[in-house]
Amino acid sequence: MVVAMQTLSGDPPTVKAYKLARSNHFVVLCPHCRRLHYHGAAGGGGHVASHCSDSAAARMGYVLAPAGIVNSGSAVMAIESGGRE
Ligand SMILES: [Zn+2]
Repeated sequence: MVVAMQTLSGDPPTVKAYKLARSNHFVVLCPHCRRLHYHGAAGGGGHVASHCSDSAAARMGYVLAPAGIVNSGSAVMAIESGGRE
């Protein structure tokens, strides 16, 4: 496999992981592909592989940092898009 770019080298980023109120999952806004990904919350956070369609980004993944409880993935989109541009 050819790796076209080196932008994914280095340490995985830390992301805010929002716990779903009605499900034992975290929701994160992916720093690699800017989509929502869901991860089981049983492990409590830490490094995971992401669910990106880009395999290099998925391998790098990110570090989950628990950041509170939300009702839905769309709430995470609202939080993450409201504070910065
Ligand atoms: Zn992603």
